[in-house]
Amino acid sequence: MGKTLAKTYKHELKKEHKVSPRKQSRKQRQKQPKKRISFAGGRDFGSLAALTKLRPAMLVLAVLALAVLIFVPLSGWMRPVAYAIPLLLASVQILPETAAKLVSGSFLNNELLTVLAAFLLFALGLFPEAVLLLLLHELVRWAERFSFEKGKRELDEILDILPDSANLITDNGIARVRPEELVPGDVILVCAGERIPLDGTIVEGITTVDTAAISGQRSPWAVNEGYRVYSGCMNLTSDIKVRVTRRFEQSTVRNVVYVAQDAEGFPSGQEYTARRLNIFWMLGMLGLFLVVAVLIPAFRGEWAEQLRRGAVLLILARPLLDAFGIPLAYRKGLVLSAKMGVFSKGEDCFESLAKAETMIFDKTGTITEGRYTVTDVFPSRMSEQQLLTIAATAESYSRHPIAVALREAAGRIDSRVVRALKVKEIPGRGVSALAGNRMIYVGNAALLEEHSIKCSIPARPGSAIHVAVDKRYCGHILVADKVRKRAFDALEGLRVNGVEKLVLLTGDVLSVARPLASRLNFDMLRAELKPEGKAKAVDYLMQNKGERASIAFVGDGENDGRIMTRADVGIAMGSLGSDTALAAADVLIMDRDILKVPRLVNLSRKIYMNSRINILAGVGGNALLILFAVFGILSVPAAEILSTLLALGLLFNMLRIR
Ligand code: ADP
Ligand code: MG
Repeated sequence: MGKTLAKTYKHELKKEHKVSPRKQSRKQRQKQPKKRISFAGGRDFGSLAALTKLRPAMLVLAVLALAVLIFVPLSGWMRPVAYAIPLLLASVQILPETAAKLVSGSFLNNELLTVLAAFLLFALGLFPEAVLLLLLHELVRWAERFSFEKGKRELDEILDILPDSANLITDNGIARVRPEELVPGDVILVCAGERIPLDGTIVEGITTVDTAAISGQRSPWAVNEGYRVYSGCMNLTSDIKVRVTRRFEQSTVRNVVYVAQDAEGFPSGQEYTARRLNIFWMLGMLGLFLVVAVLIPAFRGEWAEQLRRGAVLLILARPLLDAFGIPLAYRKGLVLSAKMGVFSKGEDCFESLAKAETMIFDKTGTITEGRYTVTDVFPSRMSEQQLLTIAATAESYSRHPIAVALREAAGRIDSRVVRALKVKEIPGRGVSALAGNRMIYVGNAALLEEHSIKCSIPARPGSAIHVAVDKRYCGHILVADKVRKRAFDALEGLRVNGVEKLVLLTGDVLSVARPLASRLNFDMLRAELKPEGKAKAVDYLMQNKGERASIAFVGDGENDGRIMTRADVGIAMGSLGSDTALAAADVLIMDRDILKVPRLVNLSRKIYMNSRINILAGVGGNALLILFAVFGILSVPAAEILSTLLALGLLFNMLRIR
């Protein structure tokens, strides 16, 4: 018996090893085809759905029969025969489950141990205790399954936003088609009160949309022609025509739903540890059982008493809950975060966030609003408007907030010139644009110096964007961005939640970054960084972090996506509609509410701490009971009831996460 068990345990560990998120780098994880994982003897409650309707009724009958039999005086052979009825009724659920697990190759599990213990008790003449054990087992499993499925239902409800049809506008009128059939360029009609089925741009109509389903925030937006709208959002007030910009497979709604649904397939390290602990526990207890119930009586006799003590050990050998209830806590985390419009790619993200000792922030668009305005123009040998026009022309294709500001300030630009441009965007520096045979550089001083163009020192402190044409310096433009209103509160919130070190990284100049960093109480600032510099800074922090600690990076996922993947966990803010953020980040905050960062860390810490409490209380409580059992102080019903109460206590501890 021992040998097969050892083999089984190896087999099970290997199985779990494969899915251990810790053993894989995040990149590997992301490359992997997402496959749903179900543990043998683990959290796959799906098969139980096949449960026939009769089984609950039979369990109720078992309870009634037990209650009656306790008060009926029976003797001799009448007792086992009478108690066999509730025993069989009570095992309607557990027997097929045990069989299924045995068939699937899982020998070390709660069900098998319960069945063994129950039949041992029955054989020892402890009839009511045997029935009670099975019934209490069902009670705990029912409570556990109920909580688990409640979480699943809640998540499904949040994610019930996938469209099943779209109204395609054709020459012959409107055709109702499946969203998968549409291609970019198609125009669809979205009626008031309908969910927008695909991402696109409004070509006709004015309306308000509500992104609540995706961003978690009920804040209707007024939109009209030219605005981008995202699938999954509600069109509230009037009908609009939308030109589809992305296929359904790449649409926001589908991405969000898939990310959220796949997260479960990447369990936390805590869950992995708990499962391993359970396996060791069961093995150890079986060993103890053999000693107490077989070895000792083989020498000393007293078989009946020793077997009774052995049965108590079997009762206590059973895992209290599936992995101490940890999957439940993490499932709860997925639900609660999805409700606030935050989607994680794996449950292990919560764990990393709970352990985050350092949090690195990118400045533009994360700490600041990412909405620059031009504050001053200092041309050299040309007019202000000319300088702005040159800069805006070169920036025509850039999505950087500085580019947006320059285009806004310049007003009209010649679209013919724009169309003929050859543009290159240099992250963290600026852009170069070839217009005809003239080379334009627009960016920070580092960019111009790289091309040996001398910049003048900015007339006033601030973020200066320098412009040069054909190596001739043309002047600079000062731009400014506003700090997010809640940035200070968010950072304080992180400190309250145990984040020790707050780091600000930016490509912007020190003269702008320093006052900002000191105002917000950052512990460390690195400014004037190119993307490589930011990556190096993250690597440095990663190498020097505490062994159990983790590092989180918060950015917009746009131009810092590659840097984000280097940290333990990358959080992208304002991810709605951003493909790069979706690819790079581990956690997507759909809107730009920076307060969601501390809220998320707080939630993660609760999940992590409660999971920890569950492991400690579960192991500690059980160990105490075992101590009593070994010395024969613990009666069988006491063991049954106390371990049930312990299990329910652990369950409750997980459910109170809010
Ligand atoms: P942050 O590190 O604050 O998030 P970025 O890395 O996006 O900022 O940019 C760093 C600096 O690089 C900016 O402050 C700006 O000087 C320059 N820069 C980057 N992109 C552009 C652009 N498209 N046009 C002009 N300057 C740019
Ligand atoms: Mg940035």
